[in-house]
Amino acid sequence: MERKKKRIAILGSTGSIGTQALQVIAEHPDLFEAEVLTANNRVDLLVAQARQFQPNAVVIANESKYPELREALADQPIKVYSGSDALCQVVESQEVDVVLTALVGFAGLLPTIHAIRARKLIALANKETLVVAGELVTQLAQTFRAPILPVDSEHSAIFQCLAGEGNNRIDKILLTASGGPFRTFTKEQLRDVTPEQALRHPNWDMGAKITIDSATMMNKGFEVIEARWLFGVKPEQIEVLVHPQSIVHSAVQFCDGAVKAQLGVPDMRLPIQYALTYPDRMSLSGERIDLFGLGQLTFERPDRDKFPCLELAFEALRRGGNAACVMNRANEVMNLAFRQGRIGYNDIFRNIERTMDRVPFEAAPTFETYIATDAEAQRVAEDLI
Ligand code: NAD
Ligand code: MG
Repeated sequence: MERKKKRIAILGSTGSIGTQALQVIAEHPDLFEAEVLTANNRVDLLVAQARQFQPNAVVIANESKYPELREALADQPIKVYSGSDALCQVVESQEVDVVLTALVGFAGLLPTIHAIRARKLIALANKETLVVAGELVTQLAQTFRAPILPVDSEHSAIFQCLAGEGNNRIDKILLTASGGPFRTFTKEQLRDVTPEQALRHPNWDMGAKITIDSATMMNKGFEVIEARWLFGVKPEQIEVLVHPQSIVHSAVQFCDGAVKAQLGVPDMRLPIQYALTYPDRMSLSGERIDLFGLGQLTFERPDRDKFPCLELAFEALRRGGNAACVMNRANEVMNLAFRQGRIGYNDIFRNIERTMDRVPFEAAPTFETYIATDAEAQRVAEDLI
């Protein structure tokens, strides 16, 4: 019997995760179909992708780019939409089976909620969704029986370790971190680092925002929160290990002391593909790890004094409510300001902490609270620059 192809909507198809997802789709045209492609600004690349993959629809979030996109695809039988409302509508289409959330930042929240309500399978790359509103989003996913499968490499590793484990109890999650480009820097050296230095990640080639988040280790803080909601563990059950080789993508320790880890070369196509083929595994081209060549795998404790953003994320989890939502927006503002050369590296942490102290705490946020909190955090954060 012919296997029905999975029809995939990629939100953010022009980004680092989006383009790699299209490589996975191109490698398995018998399994997958790109049903919807979306981008924020990059019309040229979106047009090239649409011509190659022939989706049913494309969306450009930035409405001012709509005429250019429509013109460029006028000879194609492809629907062309624009605006963030359109993102929420296309994911609800009956023709979509899987929504890969590969867009960056808070902008991922609303379309993900729409996809969950439409009972789609969510392949979640946009970790900010769970940082901002992890409790609400995971509750909705349960209510609507929409599975959320992780794409983030660490969470995919944990998910792979949990396959076949049923309700077996987890002692703790061992969440690995590369340590980023500044792992060996002193506090003094960190004061003067530039965006160019921060954008040179030793192991992973990713979008600019997450690369800066990796340099501050806010990314790992986000991943702690992401793990808390995806796997239902307590914050104190999550241990961060700096593992500079990025070969062990994370591990799980079970109640009998057994530790299962998932290893591989740093290549996001594997976790992307696993989220799309789960519970099956399919062939995937590319390098394999050479443990003899690697020689050794090392692990160290994160330096919380040098990377206080990691601590902030644990603090946000402890506070609960809208605290992580505030932290997320403050981080988006400071991350961008740092890339633009408007603030220094150490201001990123300082201003996020200040924003978290200034925006009023809400213990039991609703969706509307998150929207209001996000706007208030943006205002407060921008005032600090
Ligand atoms: P990127 O910057 O390379 O790409 C982002 C994509 O989102 C682009 O297609 C862009 O057009 C679109 N986009 C940006 N802002 C938008 C908006 N406001 N509305 C609609 N679309 C918008 O980012 P990336 O590195 O691919 O990361 C995407 C997400 O995946 C992030 O949440 C990131 O944390 C997560 N992630 C990425 C990696 C990686 O290896 N790149 C690994 C793990 C998790
Ligand atoms: Mg990761």
